[in-house]
Amino acid sequence: MNKTLEWLSPYYDNIVVSRQKVIDYVAVADSKIHKVLRMLYLYVTFDCNQQCKYCWLHNNVTARHQMMSVEMIEKLLAEAIPLGLERIKITGGEPFTNTSLNDLANTVLAKGIGLDIETNGTLITQKWINDIISRDKLFLKISLDAASSDIHDNLAHANVFKKTVDSAKLLSANTIKFGMVTVLNRLNVHHFEDIIDFVSQLGASTHRIILSIQPLGRGKNIGELKLNLDETIDVIKRFFRLRKYHDKIELGTLHSTIPPAFIPLDRLNFNACDWGIGLCGVMPDGSITMCSPAFESMDLVAGNIYENSLTEIWLNSDMFSESHIHPELDGVCGKCLFSGSCRGMCRVFARATYGSNKAPYPFCQEMFEAGFFPEWALK
Ligand code: SF4
Ligand code: SF4
Repeated sequence: MNKTLEWLSPYYDNIVVSRQKVIDYVAVADSKIHKVLRMLYLYVTFDCNQQCKYCWLHNNVTARHQMMSVEMIEKLLAEAIPLGLERIKITGGEPFTNTSLNDLANTVLAKGIGLDIETNGTLITQKWINDIISRDKLFLKISLDAASSDIHDNLAHANVFKKTVDSAKLLSANTIKFGMVTVLNRLNVHHFEDIIDFVSQLGASTHRIILSIQPLGRGKNIGELKLNLDETIDVIKRFFRLRKYHDKIELGTLHSTIPPAFIPLDRLNFNACDWGIGLCGVMPDGSITMCSPAFESMDLVAGNIYENSLTEIWLNSDMFSESHIHPELDGVCGKCLFSGSCRGMCRVFARATYGSNKAPYPFCQEMFEAGFFPEWALK
């Protein structure tokens, strides 16, 4: 017996109609999946001034203090732009601990490439903002896990809440666009609605809610802080109630890592991860990875730009072969109508949980086993 979920209640009445909506949606979404290197994730350092309890990096000694250089970014841009590059995400570690971050950012912006910077927001200064050559294509994503210092600082393992909030205000005053990212866990989930209000008041233009903590790095030892399935279901219920009733939240600015099978069918408009076909990660030593830092799984490394060109790695390595356009996935992902466009959500999370590249996405698999997976989303 399929168990029902509050936010999907209208769609249980006529499974045939609901399934047809999914089929129509995926026919369009699947046809848009192509291999083009649209995005690079640049890990410009693995140093960080915080030690967030859930971080998927661990304190890898050999990787510490390596800083990506302007010369490396110039080399990457020269190859990636002809391959279709549209946007770069600078991440880490904490990117602002790379003292060349202004030069790195300006090198990207000077080429007209869009730039996201993922940061904990504690090291942004007016001087840094003044030295940026162009603001139009710049977007900062700041981590904020609470609306008060006690919870945020506890999770960050540092007294940083005020600095993070002040940075958001500084960006706002300088009309630099930014969004905020919140990782839910048992310390902050009870204040979920307060965090959303707070982020909205700070002037963020997007707010991304991460529902799951990956069992990688420090996230492996998160223990009792991780939400269980019932708690995750409860928070999704609250999320969709907010989206429906909360007048401060514009639709589209609040989004979360809910897989498409659990999104109400009249709001289906998700962007799947482009793992394997639209992005790759670059470590400070020039290693090209599927997407994420590859300390724990060296088989996520496809090559190194100082041994083979990025073009050769992108076009010829197994990691980025065309077979990933429509991957064969195990478990519920293999049975799901969304699999062509969703592609099993996050492969790194699936691998870390079940140990296989073909593994299903953990949340969907758990929901399937618990009887909550919507019947209309099954083939
Ligand atoms: S079951 Fe897999 S393919 Fe389907 S929505 Fe979930 S993650 Fe995506
Ligand atoms: S596979 Fe997972 S970790 Fe990699 S880019 Fe996609 S969502 Fe991020």
